[in-house]
Amino acid sequence: SRIRKFLYEISQGNMKAELDGRILQRKDELGEMGRFTAHVQRSLREMIERDMLTKLYNRRIGELKMRQVYEDVKVEGGNFCLVIADIDFFKKFNDTYGHDCGDLVLKEVASVLANAMIGKGFAVRWGGEEFLLVYEHMRLEQAVEHLYELRQKVLAYEMEYNEELLHVTMTYGIVQADCEQVIEASVKAADDLLYYGKTHGRDQIVSALTQS
Ligand code: GH3
Ligand code: MG
Ligand code: MG
Repeated sequence: SRIRKFLYEISQGNMKAELDGRILQRKDELGEMGRFTAHVQRSLREMIERDMLTKLYNRRIGELKMRQVYEDVKVEGGNFCLVIADIDFFKKFNDTYGHDCGDLVLKEVASVLANAMIGKGFAVRWGGEEFLLVYEHMRLEQAVEHLYELRQKVLAYEMEYNEELLHVTMTYGIVQADCEQVIEASVKAADDLLYYGKTHGRDQIVSALTQS
């Protein structure tokens, strides 16, 4: 049956398998089983692809998606940009208000990033309080311009925790990906610019344009 085949695909790790729409419409027990199975598939896929706290892509899937963008650009031409962004003095939220507060800050900042990247590319939880942003089909000048707007949104964002208003600043390293090199080299270059920003006052965007 179709449901058996669908279940088999899921058991093989194919989270993109689709169940025949006609089964989902059915009013009988088979229809119910089909809808239930599709729901399980969705939940599984979220668990595999998303970071549970922030709901952003996790590092594994983020890396795969970034690689796909890189391969496409290599074949079809065009440009894309990478950002590594890190929350400034994040530890103080944990130390001052507790781990739950730190978690809240991560969640809220992640949602600002995810919303800001809609239509431009995507956001990934790269590490603890570190994020990767990928600007698809964009040259550096334009991506930097957008990143300045994103930074303003993060700066303007207020979070309430135990009747205190919290603000967050971040440091960003941005590069245009260099398809003549392996993708790791571009990530490393963005990371180096982030490090430069961290050691030169934080709360800033560092690009090859602004640094020189
Ligand atoms: P810097 O400005 O140099 O980036 O300083 P920082 O305090 O942001 O960076 P540091 O690397 O010293 O501390 C990061 C902390 O983030 C340490 C770790 O315990 C915390 N952290 C990592 N993941 C999570 C998480 O999921 N939840 C919470 N609450 N804390 C986390
Ligand atoms: Mg930090
Ligand atoms: Mg960090």
